[in-house]
Amino acid sequence: MTSPLLLPLEAPTPAHICPLNQACSYLEQAAQELNLDSGVLTILSYPRKVVTVSIPVKLDSGEVQVLAGHRVQHCDILGPYKGGTRYHPAVTLQEVSALAMLMTWKCALLGIPYGGAKGGIALNPSHYSVGELERITRRYTSELIKDIGPSVDIPAPDMGTSSREMAWIMDTYSMNVGHAVPGIVTGKPISIGGSRGREMATGRGVMIIVREALAQQGKSLAGARVVIQGFGNVGSAAALLLQEAGAKILAVSTGSGGVYAKEGLDIPALKTYATANHKQLAGFPGSAAITNAELLTLSCDVLIPAALENQITEENVHKIQASIIAEAANGPVSLNADKELEARGVTVLPDILANAGGVVVSYLEWVQGISYVFWDEERVNQEMEGLMVQAYHQVVQQSQARQVPLRLAAYTLGVGRVAQALTDRGLYP
Ligand code: NAD
Repeated sequence: MTSPLLLPLEAPTPAHICPLNQACSYLEQAAQELNLDSGVLTILSYPRKVVTVSIPVKLDSGEVQVLAGHRVQHCDILGPYKGGTRYHPAVTLQEVSALAMLMTWKCALLGIPYGGAKGGIALNPSHYSVGELERITRRYTSELIKDIGPSVDIPAPDMGTSSREMAWIMDTYSMNVGHAVPGIVTGKPISIGGSRGREMATGRGVMIIVREALAQQGKSLAGARVVIQGFGNVGSAAALLLQEAGAKILAVSTGSGGVYAKEGLDIPALKTYATANHKQLAGFPGSAAITNAELLTLSCDVLIPAALENQITEENVHKIQASIIAEAANGPVSLNADKELEARGVTVLPDILANAGGVVVSYLEWVQGISYVFWDEERVNQEMEGLMVQAYHQVVQQSQARQVPLRLAAYTLGVGRVAQALTDRGLYP
């Protein structure tokens, strides 16, 4: 019998698409560009804490299963660790470690006082009942009880999780410490202190960054042809908001394939259709079926990968036709594909900028929670937009000043701020 905890170690990802290699490589490029002290680079290359727990769960059938859960805390130099919790069968310790590192640079880039962390459980949520998912989430939270906290490490939703799981985490933590602690998670339901605007926040941030990038090229969202991989929390919100702003959404997909319409899909109707059809898009009236591989290579102005890592790789990069790629997912473009896109002059809006809307509104949720003052959605959206637009222009300025692509510009800003803080705080003891 194979231990689930050993799986991440037994099945390493090939080096050229390993998310951790990729994250470290971008860090090294930024360090080189910044002429960073080698000691500082070494410290920032390692997570501060790595926790792997086993999660025993009794299934509805009476069978007992043990799942592997991780929480990686990369860096808390600027503030409490912050990062999502992913439920997906492809979760590994390497992936979670890479995503934790990205969170550190993302928070620093956006100027919000958080460090970086990430959590995940290797499971396919659709194979479990709601009751089983609740028991899994509560046990995972209990196992991490000493490692998380509202001023220590604050989980949020990611792939496969939503406000429902955040409510279970909040309740489990609160029951363990003996009083209500809404600040233990962000992305929670509004009834327990969640922020208005959080559910759409990552998608809204994607829309804002795409709009700014098009504007810089003298174009606008009106009539822009957009293709989106992934129709979950991020992809569907981005699709809706981009369409509201005048873009044509030519195609969207889920893990089981996508739909295409030359004149654009009706996104609200597609959302209703998907909800009624167990998230399946196939058969949506007026659309043709399309595979995920075909979708990525469609002729369009903006391609938005909003699902998994490594969707644009050496194998398909030569077929990509978009002139702008907005990384709504974390790490959707592999290292080598990124180089080729750069050489071809394709604008890649990097993940740590393009998908930062979620963590920005998580921060705003936390600020509202600790001040006991709750804002309306308009105020939340305005505050988020201000921070996103500011970060976009800082990245563009940095890119022009250093003559580097947007990704490296974003990394130099994020990594540079953390390195400065580390230097100012000094190395303990
Ligand atoms: P989600 O679980 O709500 O949706 C994921 C979507 O991707 C679903 O439509 C799913 O069917 C699809 N998908 C899964 N496997 C696929 C495959 N092999 N090929 C094509 N599509 C596939 O997740 P989400 O919260 O929307 O997150 C999507 C991405 O955005 C992830 O990379 C996540 O890390 C990133 N992200 C999310 C947030 C957030 O606030 N939720 C914030 C920042 C970044």
